[in-house]
Amino acid sequence: MINVTKSYLPDLEEYNRYLEGIWERVHLTNDGPLLRELESQLKEYLGVRHLKFCTNGTVVLQMALKALDITKEVITTPFSYVATTNAILWEGCTPVFADIRPDDYCIDPDKIEPLITENTQAIMATHVYGNACRVEQIQAIADKYGLKVIYDAAHTFGATYNGRSILSYGDLSTCSFHATKVFHTVEGGCIVTDSDEMAQKLHFYRSFGHRNDDYYSIGINAKNSEFHAAMGLCNLPKVPSLIAARKQVFSWYDTRLDFENITRPTLTPGVDYNYAYYPVVFESEAKLLQVVDALKRNEILPRRYFYPSLNTLPFVAHLAQPCPVSEDIALRVLALPLYPDLPESDVDRICQIVNETVSANVASIEQ
Ligand SMILES: *Cc1c(COP(=O)(O)O)cnc(C)c1O
Repeated sequence: MINVTKSYLPDLEEYNRYLEGIWERVHLTNDGPLLRELESQLKEYLGVRHLKFCTNGTVVLQMALKALDITKEVITTPFSYVATTNAILWEGCTPVFADIRPDDYCIDPDKIEPLITENTQAIMATHVYGNACRVEQIQAIADKYGLKVIYDAAHTFGATYNGRSILSYGDLSTCSFHATKVFHTVEGGCIVTDSDEMAQKLHFYRSFGHRNDDYYSIGINAKNSEFHAAMGLCNLPKVPSLIAARKQVFSWYDTRLDFENITRPTLTPGVDYNYAYYPVVFESEAKLLQVVDALKRNEILPRRYFYPSLNTLPFVAHLAQPCPVSEDIALRVLALPLYPDLPESDVDRICQIVNETVSANVASIEQ
């Protein structure tokens, strides 16, 4: 069975050494020494000023909205994982969907401005597949209208834009360290900011809003444990070699797929990529479904990602905000298996099945 992703696991002995330390200290969670060490290594690796390691990449989106006092309309992308829209709704805000660019599937800055109303308070955009949004254009719009910018950077760990971690852009930026991501802590995530004041606020938010008997603000439980931090400490030093291995798999796909009837998203100029996903776009949903079937028959499980377009989710259907580009891409895009130790022979097989299915389709339509 070949899945769309496969989690990297460090040497068990290495992880065990961290466990021995946890057993000695009996400090399992609540700002433990491994968490602090991971935060400091992450800040150095990413080159960011403040970073809070939290329980997942969803709660940090909610914390971001709360920390910036966002309560009304948030202009957001329909092409993301459902967590982006859920966070907005969960915080009692209203998502306003701006369609995506047809080339890289990130939010289209030209679609943002016409949607701004007196209730608009923020833009929450996703850096899709590890590529960067048009951050300068988005910031210019935010500055013009006094809006906050939050980036869901769940895909971008290890990727840079103009030499800086993509996580360093926006008022607040979040990442997921879920088991399926480029860098993972089993479950986990982080929120990044340049602002000392915001970092202090997020620090208290993460653990119920208080320290000992001093109660500062509303809070939630987004603390992560020493066990998760230990996994991060094992995995972080491996990130450069894991990205290099992904890049190798990428190049096999690039050279073996027949691009006559398949397209791929482009990269924003200035991005140094992390090879997070290998999405391909077919001519129609029917073709995509045929490819999925053919791969499944061979025990290969790709993933429709992202699907569906978030503006069509049943619980936002009443907002009736059409996004034709996103809706079209979501029907036709498929993420092919990609992980660091995916063998070349498997990529060969996947490409052969995809190429054959796509060209068989073309032949049968032409008849
Ligand atoms: C994975 C992901 C999330 C959610 O992260 P979790 O850690 O699973 O909560 C949010 N947004 C995007 C774009 C993601 O890919």
